[in-house]
Amino acid sequence: MMEDLGNRWADLNVDDEEDAGFMFDQVEGLMDDFDARWCLVGRLLSDKLIDFDSVRNIMGSLWRPGNGMYVKELETNKYLFQFFHEVDINRALEGTPWTFNKIPLIIKRLREGDNPRLCVLNTMEIWVQVYDLQVGFKSEHVLRVVGAYIGKFVSFCPKNFTRIWRFYFRVRVLIHIDRSLKRRMKIYKSNEEWYWANFKYERVPRFCFICGVIGHSEKFCHRLFEESLDSIVKSYGLFMKAPDRKQHRQIGARDFRGKGGYGLDKNQGENGGIDINEPISGSKFKFQK
Ligand SMILES: [Zn+2]
Repeated sequence: MMEDLGNRWADLNVDDEEDAGFMFDQVEGLMDDFDARWCLVGRLLSDKLIDFDSVRNIMGSLWRPGNGMYVKELETNKYLFQFFHEVDINRALEGTPWTFNKIPLIIKRLREGDNPRLCVLNTMEIWVQVYDLQVGFKSEHVLRVVGAYIGKFVSFCPKNFTRIWRFYFRVRVLIHIDRSLKRRMKIYKSNEEWYWANFKYERVPRFCFICGVIGHSEKFCHRLFEESLDSIVKSYGLFMKAPDRKQHRQIGARDFRGKGGYGLDKNQGENGGIDINEPISGSKFKFQK
């Protein structure tokens, strides 16, 4: 075929160039070379145009990839992040949710053969703290069901069932960003008797207190256009935000160094028996002997 075309066009005179031509099927231009083994596609949930260099610099400083990272803007607020090692890409994936200037960045790992431009980004993994599970319900089975109720169960926190004191259990869940966050779940003890298990989301990006969806505040909720202001109830709120674990860790570490903690036996050392990742709320804190 190519040979035929070549022979045919070889006979054309220079003057014929104006009239000759060939219609090609347009192939979506693939990216410059990229290695699909370690690629993420990311989308910032914002209508505003975000400065590309800032995104590259800030996400780089958050992820701190040891082997470097290459970023390409695919379209407005959608990016390809090329990493060069499994460790680096995993750090970004396991640390979700990420935000850039309070704007959620939805990321997804690219699979071999995926076209990054066509990649649909509408889910995020997040740690959810499950509170108020009663005795008899503190099991992996219950947490698995709770995770599936919130979104899609991903994993447990390995520390859930260690002997370290905790107020809650942690479940990693994949949530759909177009759906309302779940606040709580009815746990039935029998056909009639039930109680609420309550949820708090770790490092959750801004979400709407009217509709419970991530990515906008109540000022920009679609329900404002559909209902009268009087009838709108803010059913969601800050109570669904888990305390910042990092902040607590820093406060905890300082306190432990200075005064030996809240009645902590000095022989136990800085973290003796205490999970310093846990929120420490004044005198309510209990120690595991
Ligand atoms: Zn809303």
